[in-house]
Amino acid sequence: MPAPAADALPAGPALSEFGLIAEYFAPLSIAAEGLLLGVGDDCALIAPTPGAVLAVSTDTLVCGRHFLPDAAPADLGWKALAVNLSDLAAMGATPRWYTLALTLPAADPPWLSGFARGLGDMMRACPILLAGGDTTGGPLAFTLTVCGELPAGRGLRRSGARVGDVVVVSGTLGDARAGLALCRGECAALHADDEAWLLERMQRPQPRVAAGQALRDLAHAAIDVSDGFCADLGHILRASGVGARVHVDRLPLSLPLRRSVGDAQALNYALAGGDDYELCVCLPPALLAAAQAACAPLPLTVVGEIVAGSGLRLIDPDGGERSGTPSGFDHFASA
Ligand code: ADP
Ligand code: MG
Repeated sequence: MPAPAADALPAGPALSEFGLIAEYFAPLSIAAEGLLLGVGDDCALIAPTPGAVLAVSTDTLVCGRHFLPDAAPADLGWKALAVNLSDLAAMGATPRWYTLALTLPAADPPWLSGFARGLGDMMRACPILLAGGDTTGGPLAFTLTVCGELPAGRGLRRSGARVGDVVVVSGTLGDARAGLALCRGECAALHADDEAWLLERMQRPQPRVAAGQALRDLAHAAIDVSDGFCADLGHILRASGVGARVHVDRLPLSLPLRRSVGDAQALNYALAGGDDYELCVCLPPALLAAAQAACAPLPLTVVGEIVAGSGLRLIDPDGGERSGTPSGFDHFASA
């Protein structure tokens, strides 16, 4: 008997909550290295490394707030995990396990398989085990909780910066903000390669996990740049009770960024754009060369120095001081 035309087939049964967990997320949860029991029971069972301290962090991504409604699901899976791994990187922790709380408007198989693929890509790029999660219906959002391990007493905190430290940034700043501007049609890249690269910087951030671990015994303080460089360095300064001078012409700006938006806007994006997921660290100048060697080929650029007092001073190339520093993204700030 000939097979019926595809559109004459009855629609398959709707994917249930448990069906979608079994199909898309249980395969990502493989018991290994301390994960005794993953997805499928009431709790995951985890055996931490004896003597290790756990580093734990949660980040939520909400549709329309943290990503555009038409974002590719594979990019969202990657980014949801990447931004969480970035917090572990900023502590110098080794990623070990995470949980995934998903709120979905519908159980849409193409969307779910794309999302799971992006998560899996990030899990391969930066190894971490999926321990479990929760799945609910509602407006699209994801909350991940990541857990890493550190040797006792060796976490990189925000509060350790000292007068005389250099302020260092990994990679380049402002690219992701330019990627967002491209998506919104606010600008157009002159070179197709630049456009692809800037979009990749927004959609597929690279958490600096290896650099964080390499800097763990060299840096006095660290933070990951998620809300904007000025805002995030500001957190280090407040926590450490110090000030900083940053020379704006030393901020690492990529060629694709400068070519696409011009030098002035590139600088604005680097200072306050956010979504960079680079590391900002403070360390003694004598350890700079060792830090750069340990993070290579990822560049570390000195952008300023820690000084006595409080607050961030932005220094222009002529030596003059800029008045006012841009603030970072604040979910509850008035418009
Ligand atoms: P309970 O009702 O006991 O809280 P759930 O029905 O929420 O359990 O979850 C069943 C199992 O599936 C648990 O092991 C949970 O960790 C896992 N799980 C649920 N949702 C997800 C998800 N989105 N990703 C990974 N694991 C999940
Ligand atoms: Mg539950």
